[in-house]
Amino acid sequence: MFNDVRSLYLHIPFCERKCEYCDFTSVAGATGSEAYMGALNAEVRRIGERLGPLALDTVFIGGGTPSLVEPALLAGLIATVRSTFSVTADAEVTMEANPSSITAGRARVWREAGVNRISIGVQSLETDALRFLGRVHDADRALAAVAEVREAGFTSINCDLIYAVPGLGDTRWRRTLERVVDAGPTHISCYELTVEAGTPLHARVRRGLVTPVDGVRSIRQHGIAVDLLERAGYAHYEVSNFALPGEECRHNLVYWRNGYYAAAGVGAHGHLPAAAAAAVGLDVAAGAVSVRYWHGRGIAAYGRAVRGGELAIAGSEPVGPGMREQERVMLGLRLREGVRIGASNLSEAHALAGLGLIAVDGDRVRATARGEAVLNQVTLRLVGDQAA
Ligand code: SF4
Repeated sequence: MFNDVRSLYLHIPFCERKCEYCDFTSVAGATGSEAYMGALNAEVRRIGERLGPLALDTVFIGGGTPSLVEPALLAGLIATVRSTFSVTADAEVTMEANPSSITAGRARVWREAGVNRISIGVQSLETDALRFLGRVHDADRALAAVAEVREAGFTSINCDLIYAVPGLGDTRWRRTLERVVDAGPTHISCYELTVEAGTPLHARVRRGLVTPVDGVRSIRQHGIAVDLLERAGYAHYEVSNFALPGEECRHNLVYWRNGYYAAAGVGAHGHLPAAAAAAVGLDVAAGAVSVRYWHGRGIAAYGRAVRGGELAIAGSEPVGPGMREQERVMLGLRLREGVRIGASNLSEAHALAGLGLIAVDGDRVRATARGEAVLNQVTLRLVGDQAA
């Protein structure tokens, strides 16, 4: 029994249309979603056969747009998770949803199936920003969606927002934040718009049709979010994440605390301790503490592999003790609670604090706003390059 694997990520890759900036594993339309969900259920059961009935504290159904698939299929998936693993009584079960595929009726089915936290892709409440991003909803639909999931009984509600959108000035970014706060979610995530290679947005930037927002404005808009949300009572507990007391995302905290999690579904990434990785059939190099692994991005190939009795895992990377320490520090620096460092690193930590890049509290360190922009370099100075 693998007691240190207590989280499960499940990926559902269907969206109404592809957003301009998106490089997640997702496709436009729900064609084939029934067959895909069948394969996903099969993979979950196969993980259970190999790892045993893990006690799960967190389950995260992400995408893509999970809310787009038939609610009965989602309920079936959650039933499979519950019959395969031991989902703890107070487990956090999150599902991502987009405003355009939320209704109170659908949300009630999710709730009855056992989802107890909804993460809504609001992104903006400004019409031109939503259009620029390629989103299919408008501000009214986004706010109605928050009300509908609440009406269905959800009390833990996250809203995802994006800043540094070209054309979106500070005043209108602030207005989006204020209106979202008024809608009363318990958690708000604010992500900087990044231009990822291969996206339609990247092509427009390359052709000179779009100029990305410069770093100064981007940092300023992040600061606006921090000020406004902290004043509204949301704790800034991670670089991009804000929560009312007790409403931090427990699943994502597992990532940031460098914990372990199993994963199923096309494109899904997992991280398992060496013994669990061996049990699922991954190569475990001598000296590895853990293994990070990932699934391929093709939906048809995923279905074929799972039907053929496999887990559809496309690749894996062993994590040695040095890399594990480096990852622990880099991820932990993102958290307000910080991360513990050894006594031998304390003098370097104080030097970095002198540069305004980190804050030191006893043997714990965390990145400052300036340090967040250069996390890789801060980590390398703190723990050195131990990737080998
Ligand atoms: S809804 Fe999310 S996953 Fe789907 S295309 Fe847009 S950004 Fe990508």
